[in-house]
Amino acid sequence: MIRKFDVVIVGGSFAGLACARTAALRGLKVAVIDAKAEPGARVCTTGIIVKEACDDFDLPATLMRKVRGVRLYAPDDRALDLHAPGYFFQSTDTPGLMRWLAGEAERAGAELLYGRSYEGALEHERGVALPSLGLHAGFLVGADGARSRVAEHFGLGRNRRFLAGLEIECEPLEIDGRFLHCFADSKIAPGYIAWAVPGVGLTQIGVAARRPAKPDLGGLLRRLKAICDVREIRVVSRRSGLIPTGGVVGPLGGRRVMLIGDAAGTVSPVTGGGIHTALRFGRRAAQLISDYLRDRGPQPASVFAREVPRFRMKLAMRTLLDLAPPNVLINAALMTRPMRSLAQRLYFHSRGGDPAAFEAWKQAFERDELESPALPSTKLHLV
Ligand SMILES: Cc1cc2nc3c(=O)[nH]c(=O)nc-3n(C[C@H](O)[C@H](O)[C@H](O)COP(=O)(O)OP(=O)(O)OC[C@H]3O[C@@H](n4cnc5c(N)ncnc54)[C@H](O)[C@@H]3O)c2cc1C
Repeated sequence: MIRKFDVVIVGGSFAGLACARTAALRGLKVAVIDAKAEPGARVCTTGIIVKEACDDFDLPATLMRKVRGVRLYAPDDRALDLHAPGYFFQSTDTPGLMRWLAGEAERAGAELLYGRSYEGALEHERGVALPSLGLHAGFLVGADGARSRVAEHFGLGRNRRFLAGLEIECEPLEIDGRFLHCFADSKIAPGYIAWAVPGVGLTQIGVAARRPAKPDLGGLLRRLKAICDVREIRVVSRRSGLIPTGGVVGPLGGRRVMLIGDAAGTVSPVTGGGIHTALRFGRRAAQLISDYLRDRGPQPASVFAREVPRFRMKLAMRTLLDLAPPNVLINAALMTRPMRSLAQRLYFHSRGGDPAAFEAWKQAFERDELESPALPSTKLHLV
């Protein structure tokens, strides 16, 4: 028997679940299929969430940990501390967050079919048939990640440039929990950085490199010796995956199908961050599909293509980063004023704000007293 849905979403991760929740809340009959056995299984991401995502979406604080600063290390171990008034990142219990997002989508009315793989579909006048799954969709959404099978089958745009990322989760290490510790080092992370993140109940240590270069996790562990004791690392789990860095793909969809999240390439080509855009444009896609199916609205993919970020500057920066400047150059440049300002903008989208407020913030940050709300107000300059 064929089961009929208004929307079938391939991929039950950040983009797919955000899309499913909104589509179901708008009254559409929604199914999500995912090859994983259950939500939260085989997580492939570090899972850091930027403040803007926490402003746009109400995510549970119990599954996150605020980290307010970035300590950026040069290859020679000198470090630059960056932070901005009022800003933070959140490291996450990513499997827990994924289960929570799945629960929210289900509570809204979406049906979640884990342990089911997409293998192909046939588009026709009134929808899309998925014979191997016994499903029919009025609209099909490809939220199936960097190497989207949906994109491949429908001849849609494909990601072509990637970073390869590798991470271990281990029992908490003694690192300064105020910071994301980031290592600029072209030997161990050509084209990107390596990191040590104070996570939720564990420490995450990872590295990524532009393909085809390989990230050097052993090299990172050797460097970590400078900031903590790594002799007794107890690894709890591992994560790895591809990060698309070529910008938004095209075409993004057709009459009855569209791509979202990493499948669509909505990832910052510089930072590799894609969770905020996956959530944001996953939800937006659901609104457009609902308008299309219910209210004769415009083709979702064509509106979507106009709204998603172009990343023009970031793509130009990616081309420079892919050249992996030699470590001697990074050592010479990283502590200079222009590089500091560039790093501040990349991590915090901020030029620093009102100097008096920044000074008060800096003192509170250095004393680790930031839970106190009694700081003078300041203005963040968004770029
Ligand atoms: C190592 C690493 C670290 C990262 N760190 C961060 C970070 O700290 N912060 C940040 O913002 N971004 C980070 N990113 C990027 C971020 O993880 C992605 O942008 C985000 O996960 C995209 O979500 P998505 O829902 O589009 O796709 P994904 O999270 O990739 O999910 C795709 C889903 O589709 C399913 N699927 C795939 N193929 C099929 C199929 N044929 N049939 C059924 N199901 C299928 C998969 O099982 C998966 O659940 C990182 C990426 C990597 C690889």
